[in-house]
Amino acid sequence: MKSLDLLVVGLGPGGGSAAGKAAAGGLDVLAVDRRQVIGEPVQCAEFIPNPMGAYARTHPVRLQSITGMQSILPSGAAHASDFPGLMIDRAEFDRAIARAAEDHGAELWTASRLTALEPAERIATIRRNGQEQAIRYRALVAADGPHSTVATWLGLAPLATVITRQYTVPLRQPLGDTIVWLSDDYPGGYAWLFPRGDVANLGLGLDPQLQPDLKGPLEQLHQRLIEQGQVGPEISRRTGGAIPVGGPRERLHDGRIVFVG
Ligand SMILES: Cc1cc2nc3c(=O)[nH]c(=O)nc-3n(C[C@H](O)[C@H](O)[C@H](O)COP(=O)(O)OP(=O)(O)OC[C@H]3O[C@@H](n4cnc5c(N)ncnc54)[C@H](O)[C@@H]3O)c2cc1C
Repeated sequence: MKSLDLLVVGLGPGGGSAAGKAAAGGLDVLAVDRRQVIGEPVQCAEFIPNPMGAYARTHPVRLQSITGMQSILPSGAAHASDFPGLMIDRAEFDRAIARAAEDHGAELWTASRLTALEPAERIATIRRNGQEQAIRYRALVAADGPHSTVATWLGLAPLATVITRQYTVPLRQPLGDTIVWLSDDYPGGYAWLFPRGDVANLGLGLDPQLQPDLKGPLEQLHQRLIEQGQVGPEISRRTGGAIPVGGPRERLHDGRIVFVG
């Protein structure tokens, strides 16, 4: 049986960073992700505040700078705030972090899914190339996202999330700020327009208990911005997913398992 210091589950920014730090500190690290290609498909609006920019300052990750955020309040009033950051190519961002982990000596496996866990024995089962492989770890980092299977297996409460839908659309005029709408039309959540050069990510996140239909409100917002001349009608990419909105987990560790992300 393969035996190592640290098994990292998930190669998003959380898992990639944890794998890199641990490998740089001298641990024997294996990081696995069920995705075929790290970072894809992108499930992100691709804005990061400046402090997160260590892996995002250069081509091809960095797409444009952001100066601030315009919040459109339920009254319709606009509020400008200082919220500088970067728009990134999120897939390249995740890959840059993973490459840095590899450079520090971490072993990375893609198309490799955690399928079972025996925490008392510190044994994880990974399905790779159609075969199950048992791995003994000294510690495990669960960086497997907002719907963490590790958390479910440990009996931890699910994270509060909004569900999202997002289109990438042409931007008719350059935009240096992110725009966020807070409105009764988006119960428990918000809508956004984040510029990335000559296109923008237009999306919304809602509390699924309050409003299960995302398509209707997003199509309405898209139509309104087309009529205002801000964006074009073509949709070059569609995505979605869950965004945690309720703060950290009740517990961030359980025995030899640490949650990251
Ligand atoms: C539409 C949308 C827009 C967003 N916009 C922004 C934004 O503009 N800025 C921002 O900062 N955040 C944004 N977020 C949130 C952001 O994407 C997440 O917070 C971030 O991805 C979390 O990173 P992570 O490393 O914790 O997890 P993730 O990036 O979710 O990575 C988890 C990884 O674990 C892998 N995995 C899961 N289960 C297993 C398993 N059993 N075995 C192996 N691998 C597994 C997955 O394949 C995945 O690669 C957005 C989210 C969505 C959905």
